[in-house]
Amino acid sequence: MTKKERYDFVIHYFEEHMPDAETELVYDNPYQLLVAVILSAQCTDKRVNMTTPFIFEKYPDIRALSKAAFNELFPLIKSISYPNNKTKHLIGMAQKVVTDFNGKIPMTVPELITLPGVGRKTANVITSVIDQQPNMAVDTHVFRVSKRLGLVPQKLTTPLAVEKELVKNLKPELIHKAHHWLILHGRYVCLARNPKCWECGLQQVCIYFQNLLNKK
Ligand code: SF4
Repeated sequence: MTKKERYDFVIHYFEEHMPDAETELVYDNPYQLLVAVILSAQCTDKRVNMTTPFIFEKYPDIRALSKAAFNELFPLIKSISYPNNKTKHLIGMAQKVVTDFNGKIPMTVPELITLPGVGRKTANVITSVIDQQPNMAVDTHVFRVSKRLGLVPQKLTTPLAVEKELVKNLKPELIHKAHHWLILHGRYVCLARNPKCWECGLQQVCIYFQNLLNKK
């Protein structure tokens, strides 16, 4: 099977079975999504979604958050992983958006990564979800699933290398959607420890699954 045939099969499968894939984070605008994505590092979307309504009620926009006091914001996110750092990052991010970008969330990766708490993965999520830019955020699910399927070479060891390979092989207009396909497949089917291969519709193209069969 050629690489193109594998990509075509996977894309066709997801288009058929997950036509409306999107983020599971709840948000109404770029400000809310940026806060939610920063909070979601090393934390489940479910827990973030339980927390953000209280933050957005108290700090309804970026200017309100930029004036937040650490001691007032911290209690709202203390149930999330790394609350100390995340509290500092949220306030620092908001202050920088206000001073450097006139209160408007920037919408390019180079600008976004100047903000505290925002790395390449977060910047790729924001620009692809809000603006459908062809940027692939590689988290642990995207990294694992794309390697297992054989969409990227097994020898790749960094998220950046996987990102570049996926971007090279996917049509630009599909990239923002493929990000959600791979995340959701990793979250619910292709689990890290016990992938549900026997209920997965991608068996016939999956390198991990073929290797399992060959071992038997
Ligand atoms: S066959 Fe198994 S390893 Fe391959 S994508 Fe499906 S769940 Fe993951």
